[in-house]
Amino acid sequence: MEADSTAEAAEAASDKKERISEEKFGCFLTYLYLCVIKTKPEERNMDIIERFLNYTKFDTQSAEDSQTVPSTSKQLIFAEYLKKELEREGLDDVELDDKGYIYATLKANTKDDVPTIGFISHYDTSPDCRGADIKPQIVRNYDGSDILLSEGITMSPKKFPELLQHVGEDLIVTDGTTLLGADDKAGIAEIMQAMVYLQEHKEIKHGKIRVAFNPDEEIGMGAHHFDVEKFGCEWAYTMDGGDVGELEFENFNAASAKISIKGVSVHPGYAKGKMINANALAAEFAKMLPENETPETTEGYQGFYHLLGITSNIEQAKLSYIIRDHDRETFEDRKRFVQRCADQMNEKYGEGTVEAVVNDQYYNMKEKIEPDNMHVIDLVLKAMQEVGVSPKVRPIRGGTDGAQLSFKGLPCPNIFAGGINFHGPYEFVPIQSMEKAMKVVVKICELVGAYNG
Ligand SMILES: [Zn+2]
Repeated sequence: MEADSTAEAAEAASDKKERISEEKFGCFLTYLYLCVIKTKPEERNMDIIERFLNYTKFDTQSAEDSQTVPSTSKQLIFAEYLKKELEREGLDDVELDDKGYIYATLKANTKDDVPTIGFISHYDTSPDCRGADIKPQIVRNYDGSDILLSEGITMSPKKFPELLQHVGEDLIVTDGTTLLGADDKAGIAEIMQAMVYLQEHKEIKHGKIRVAFNPDEEIGMGAHHFDVEKFGCEWAYTMDGGDVGELEFENFNAASAKISIKGVSVHPGYAKGKMINANALAAEFAKMLPENETPETTEGYQGFYHLLGITSNIEQAKLSYIIRDHDRETFEDRKRFVQRCADQMNEKYGEGTVEAVVNDQYYNMKEKIEPDNMHVIDLVLKAMQEVGVSPKVRPIRGGTDGAQLSFKGLPCPNIFAGGINFHGPYEFVPIQSMEKAMKVVVKICELVGAYNG
């Protein structure tokens, strides 16, 4: 199936006279929508599609090796745009700080004393794939066949079977040369649309809702400058998960381990009993860690040791590891095991030969959700049920901004934003998934508005 540009899709569709009148009306709406999007978007109510398509026009790629905050100044251009949009859509206390963090408030419309909650998305896109000149296309009523993104670039359900879960839906895809940025601009569009919806439906009673959009999530810095105190929420949700129904509140405990090995270099002709070859010791150390506990041999709740890199010569060697485990005790055991391996090497080759420096990176947010904060999860499950979304609760084999925020005192599970195939040119997002995520946000606000827990 060929991906039409939005304009072509509308034209082609309106030519088909045999369509039933309902469909014609739909095409007419699409046509109207396209006329309006091309004129003055700021003077009318936008829908979620238009919002998202507007966001993709901004290149907001973050950069790993930058020393600035945010990591790229182009992110601030988009931040200014979002700030104006929040103001235009009637939110209060809209603030963009000098680090690129945007905060806003939707005032309560109930006098009941209910918790203040928040919704968070990041607006940077991954440094792994080009994020400039994104040309989104809409595949209407996807029929399950290959999608031609552009000349010679096809997205096939044979390679991406997730596509088949979205037959009959309308997919926003790329032209195959950039990422789409649904990670996480879909989340922003969903939150923004939900805030507009709540203002248009005053019959839905809700407490104070806080909204935050942040830079630099993709380089692991999204939570670093997040002002939890200023945000002032009892709990919050990141809208940054993948496919419909995803809900994540368990992530890895994470540590890094740097192993330094000192060798002794002696002329190889006279080395017997004197040389300590750091190259060989590095290999020996690597062998001591269980070979079936690596990323490529584990899944689900299984933890691992992951050797990121080795640099070595005869005199010195360095091994760099990351250690991951969902279970806090097993995680601590793994850290101790690395230390014991170093101790054993020192017994064998002499004290000071091997040094292991282990540093914690982040922890499983489950620790902060269970046992006191399960209502934060139960509310999402209930909200999903009420809007017809089947929840998929899965452990994350990684970390999230929400994990860091949870340990800064803001319990913060992650809810789906609908995008699939993140960080690459095959990224896509079904419009229906974005609409469902938007409804989940609205429903959570409604449930918390009637909250008496
Ligand atoms: Zn993301």
